[in-house]
Amino acid sequence: MSFKKFNFHGKILAGVEALGYTEPTPIQMQSIPPILAGNDVMGLAQTGTGKTAAFVLPLLQRLMQGPRRKIRALIIAPTRELTEQTHKVIGQLGRRTGLRSLSVYGGVSMRPQITSLNRGVDIVSACPGRLLDHIQRKTIDVSRIDVLVLDEADHMFDMGFLPDIKKIISYLPSQRQTLLFSATMPKDIKALADKVLTDPVRVQIDHTAPVASVAHAFYPVETDRKTDLLKNILDNNETGPVLVFTRTKMRAKRVAQQLDRFGYDATALHGNLSQNNRQKALDGFGCGRYKILVATDVAARGIDIHRVSHVINYDMPDTVDAYTHRIGRTGRASETGDAFTFVTGSDTGPASSIKRVLGKRVKHCVMEGFACSSSAGERQMRKKRRNGQRDNARTGPKPTFRSKPKGRLSSKRAQRHAV
Ligand code: AMP
Repeated sequence: MSFKKFNFHGKILAGVEALGYTEPTPIQMQSIPPILAGNDVMGLAQTGTGKTAAFVLPLLQRLMQGPRRKIRALIIAPTRELTEQTHKVIGQLGRRTGLRSLSVYGGVSMRPQITSLNRGVDIVSACPGRLLDHIQRKTIDVSRIDVLVLDEADHMFDMGFLPDIKKIISYLPSQRQTLLFSATMPKDIKALADKVLTDPVRVQIDHTAPVASVAHAFYPVETDRKTDLLKNILDNNETGPVLVFTRTKMRAKRVAQQLDRFGYDATALHGNLSQNNRQKALDGFGCGRYKILVATDVAARGIDIHRVSHVINYDMPDTVDAYTHRIGRTGRASETGDAFTFVTGSDTGPASSIKRVLGKRVKHCVMEGFACSSSAGERQMRKKRRNGQRDNARTGPKPTFRSKPKGRLSSKRAQRHAV
């Protein structure tokens, strides 16, 4: 099926062609018709499925008619990066439409935002805090909003933005189209959806399982050997751009510095960086100056980085959804990718949840010298050492097969086990 079927304005189709999209993704096929028909939509879709274009395209179509330079579409998202990303996609898809888009978030001066708002814009992508600030100072006019998009609603909730969002909505016209996208539907988001959506059309893509084109592997490791394991993987694996996730800002910084010392072009992306430095890190990674980006979840949320070949979870994500979000950076829009997750003895809880969702798709890889899939495994190893047995580094579940090595990584040093 081609995009022509949606009867988009020629100027919008030109944007689609310029980006090289030939066929709509499943979320686009499901969402675009009801959005074009003016329905409210509740989209259960993870990042990496093409959900941004799924709402941006029909939104541009709607804005082709009617007054210009009045804010008629408002997109609210949890992070600056995602806001910037959406603004960029609007710019790309809408570049022939003459519609003006602006991104609005905190951590930077208000003045240039106010200047742009005064000049007149059609679409605003915003983070809740700064948007509310503008509304309360009356530096933004949201009285003519036709379409409201709440993107990554579950993360906005996780980040404590729900009260701000409710306040923002109270300033908007009640006659409007509302679209809500979320990777998961916890009960608070369901309650919000019930409140803000009128008779919504529900679209759902792939529940919370990560996209199918990603290969998943768990690597048992002791906590203090993680950087060695990371280096080992990078040394022995042919990779494209690699995204490494850590739990804390400090660790992101430290791991990036260590990799840099090992001779890798690595940089860090975390919340302690100024907006300018975050953008520099993202741009540097995007253009290939850095081959490895070490990031925290919040900093990397929703960002669209093309052609990430490997996502490496240096620290185990807390939930399946966090895993899904991280892994959403690779295997995007039908490319393939690898996801490696380091598992220490204290990670068995989240590791089993992820395994429950992915089933046999997760391979359990033990790199010789980097053992221990569980504290029980660690105890067993210590006992073996005490008994003077040779440590052959194979612990954890009994291996059911040994596959032929994949690429350079799975040389003799790596053994793969089904979990
Ligand atoms: P998103 O889920 O919106 O972050 O999109 C993920 C990636 O898919 C982005 O790199 C988009 O440019 C890309 N994408 C979106 N729609 C399509 C499409 N119809 N065909 C190919 N790539 C797409």
